Amino acid sequence: MKYIYHLVVLVGIGALIAAFVFLKGRTADAKRKALIRLYGPAGINYYAHLECEQALRTLLEGKKPASVIAKEQRWTPAELIGRFTDITACDACKKEFAMTDKGYVSFWCTNPRELQLLREIEAEKHGADPAARTGSLQ
Ligand SMILES: [Zn+2]
Repeated sequence: MKYIYHLVVLVGIGALIAAFVFLKGRTADAKRKALIRLYGPAGINYYAHLECEQALRTLLEGKKPASVIAKEQRWTPAELIGRFTDITACDACKKEFAMTDKGYVSFWCTNPRELQLLREIEAEKHGADPAARTGSLQ
């Protein structure tokens, strides 16, 4: 009888800890989702010459903390040069962009958790089950 009492107490404590962890995680995610809805997701855009694309991918794969490429975009020199005042050079080779370049690629990167929350928000907007959605954001 004494062992059953201890077992019941341990299971009860375990359930309380599990509920606390679950609710705490949910609350943090709910807060982060609210911020994403208000201000957009946290992420960084990287730009590279088309011929530097693989070098940039390798550079991003080695970054810590880990980030994931959530969106890719191709640009012509006419589309990109002068569009953003702070985007003037390749993030891979560091050379300045020029109108004679073939073109560019940009990667919008974020952390894996932010991307997951973003996908859940998009799925909620479309009334889909977030777990069933596996496609990219493009
Ligand atoms: Zn380059």
